[in-house]
Amino acid sequence: MRVMGIESTAHTFGVGIVENGKIIANERDMYLSEKGGIVPTEAAEHHRKLANEVMRRALSRAGLSLEDIDLVGLSVGPGLPPCLKAGLDFAKSISDSIVEVNHCVAHIEIGRFVGKLKDPLTVYVSGGNTQIIAYAGGRYRIFGETLDIGLGNAYDKFARSIGLPMPGGPKVEELAKKGKYKELPYTVKGMSLVYAGLVTAAEKLAKRYRIEDACYSFQETALSMLAEVSERALAHTKKRELLLTGGVAANKRLREIMKAVAEEHGASFYVPDREYCGDNGAMIAITASLIGKAKKSEDVDIKPNWRADDVEVLWIKK
Ligand code: AMP
Ligand code: MG
Repeated sequence: MRVMGIESTAHTFGVGIVENGKIIANERDMYLSEKGGIVPTEAAEHHRKLANEVMRRALSRAGLSLEDIDLVGLSVGPGLPPCLKAGLDFAKSISDSIVEVNHCVAHIEIGRFVGKLKDPLTVYVSGGNTQIIAYAGGRYRIFGETLDIGLGNAYDKFARSIGLPMPGGPKVEELAKKGKYKELPYTVKGMSLVYAGLVTAAEKLAKRYRIEDACYSFQETALSMLAEVSERALAHTKKRELLLTGGVAANKRLREIMKAVAEEHGASFYVPDREYCGDNGAMIAITASLIGKAKKSEDVDIKPNWRADDVEVLWIKK
């Protein structure tokens, strides 16, 4: 069984191929705008232009041709509508049946696959998404999430406002190493996070104190908020594994904090390699092979606001 997965929800166009439960190709091309943020229509244009080339690269890496592919999976949401549409049009051009894959679920499944995890609490932190997710009663339930912007976007917005080049996350992390703590608003509401106010306050702080202090205070506050909610979710669900994934998982301070949270609760801690933390086609292929059921492509559509907890997880037997 050979499964191709297509990812196009945001800045990355990716194609992965899985053969009998083994990843044999994972190719991608990332859209980068002049200023660093995503202009959805430009990203979609990028995907349309590069789709065929990325797929050819994946097939050649796998030593296969398109006719050898038994099943095509597509990440139909959540994501930016123009980007999703570009992926949909491409998938329809190569296959008349498609497995609809939820992007967030795919981040969990690739983490479980490469980390050989059974039943993790997943902390998924990317540019646009920040969610704490765990399996319960046939679904991936969302135990906590941001009410406004994703953690990565919070880093990027703050970074841009203090004149740092994109992507801002790594730069803020670097400067934070030399900073001292100044008070900033810490906003956790129940199991929800709110980052926009913190960004505004940190921007103001940067005008009065050293930029390093603003970076340190922003990072410590943002990550502590995430840690609080993650810790509560871990204590409540009693999961024995903590999976940290998404682009922000590259942050060393975040890894240190999450590892401590896991250890405190007797859970193991795992972060996939960068290749599998960021958006990629292999995660869509892995998830499509778990789902196994394709729809006629004319019945497949994009789902820009599709939540992980809307997906019935039939491949996990309890
Ligand atoms: P993704 O959306 O999964 O591709 O992840 C990209 C996001 O991760 C961007 O918002 C980056 O700023 C952020 N990011 C990448 N590396 C780091 C880092 N070391 N610290 C904080 N954020 C980061
Ligand atoms: Mg993602």
